[in-house]
Amino acid sequence: MVRAPLRLFCLASLLLMASSAFAAFPAASQDDPGCTAEDRIYMARAYELARYAITHGGGPFGALLVKDGKILAEYSNCVHSTHDVTKHAETGLISAFSPKIDRETFAKSTLYTSTEPCTMCCGAICFAGIGRVVYGTSEAPFLNVMGLPPDPNPLTSHEVLGRIAPKIKVLGPLMEAEGLIIHEGYWPVHPEDVGKS
Ligand SMILES: [Zn+2]
Repeated sequence: MVRAPLRLFCLASLLLMASSAFAAFPAASQDDPGCTAEDRIYMARAYELARYAITHGGGPFGALLVKDGKILAEYSNCVHSTHDVTKHAETGLISAFSPKIDRETFAKSTLYTSTEPCTMCCGAICFAGIGRVVYGTSEAPFLNVMGLPPDPNPLTSHEVLGRIAPKIKVLGPLMEAEGLIIHEGYWPVHPEDVGKS
């Protein structure tokens, strides 16, 4: 007679604990409706590159450049191993590959990046003249997972690129739930890297 209610109580406690744990992380936003099925394929690759970065000297960020169904360049954040703060996935990719890729090709390419580009990377994207950008995870939930307070004066990549390079098409978020899982697995166990990747 006692066991069943006790089991129910334990189950309810576990469900409460689980829901509390999940509540600690932000919910994922819906995909940008402008994204295509092809965009999803390349975003999955950007997330693979982000996971690769974790074990290869960087924070959990990855990017790739695609034109006409071909991957032209890939890059994973390597700020830690290089001690170079400009080695974000997007700026690192542009720096490494702009000597080999002409401006016309950049203009006809899409840059896929696992997390919304920061202002530094928006500047590099602008100067490279990349035609289209698709990001995975938005900055706001990403900051939340890092344990940082909400930005009181947020400046999104849509706004930055819309001002400095209005011809560039910016889309995102895309598959944000997958990106948040990567961040949730990294930042709580690497608090020393917050603000340094
Ligand atoms: Zn950046």
